[in-house]
Amino acid sequence: MQASNGFAQNGASAASNGTAAPENGHQDRENGIEATSNTKANEEIVRLIGQYLKNEGLSKTCDALMSESKCRLDHPAAAKFRQQVMDGDWTKADHHLQELKTMLGPENSIVEMKFLILEQKYLEYLEDSRVLDALHVLRNELTPLQHNTQRVHQLSSFMMCSSTEELLEKTKWAGKGLRSRTTLMDKLQSYLPPTVMLPPNRLNVLLNQALELQTIRCTHHYTSIDVALNNSSLLVDHCCPVADFPMHTVQAKAKGKRKAEPLKKGPLRKMWLCFPQASD
Ligand SMILES: [Zn+2]
Repeated sequence: MQASNGFAQNGASAASNGTAAPENGHQDRENGIEATSNTKANEEIVRLIGQYLKNEGLSKTCDALMSESKCRLDHPAAAKFRQQVMDGDWTKADHHLQELKTMLGPENSIVEMKFLILEQKYLEYLEDSRVLDALHVLRNELTPLQHNTQRVHQLSSFMMCSSTEELLEKTKWAGKGLRSRTTLMDKLQSYLPPTVMLPPNRLNVLLNQALELQTIRCTHHYTSIDVALNNSSLLVDHCCPVADFPMHTVQAKAKGKRKAEPLKKGPLRKMWLCFPQASD
């Protein structure tokens, strides 16, 4: 598979003049642009699957997939950056952040990203009772950024916490470790272009969007439960059975009772809006 965003490991160029034979089985394509377009889509699908596998802890399978497809999950600098954040190696994370600076696009959020990293570093020092180190981060690293001063003041107040429990309660922070660093990484990822690093849980987001669209298209949608990945099948489109659709009145609104909640989505909402609503 050829990459279209420069992340292919072999650096080979995609067929562009209609004479080169694509490697992905589309030998019948005569138009080089069409072949390139499909290659880009294929590469993105592979990256989405790779991210899902990695999130599920199947790193070796992800590596094999990337190797065989000649794709890269993330830009090498971004991959290193993620590893340093997850390892809590803040000095190296900052170094790799500088490498990513040129890839951040017009809305350069380097200061905000640096702030988020230093915030985590500061809180981890506090949890470890390394008060002097925490104070150093606050005075010499966070404050000079001149960014989100209100939050800096709030962070300084956490120094007064007398125990880890009190610190976690006041900060609403998960504490030093995988969970809080994953949350941090999710925030940082939102500032990186998708060509550099995929947004968090991208495949799940897309699948949930697909389910939401199926719900809107469901002609007899009749459930108050949100259709989501944890209660639906992806193997067939969502469709409420016609037999379950209410055909008879089961409840009447009595005078003085609380007004019934309108339907939020689905075709029944249109019907709801057609009915005159009795005033209390
Ligand atoms: Zn339905």
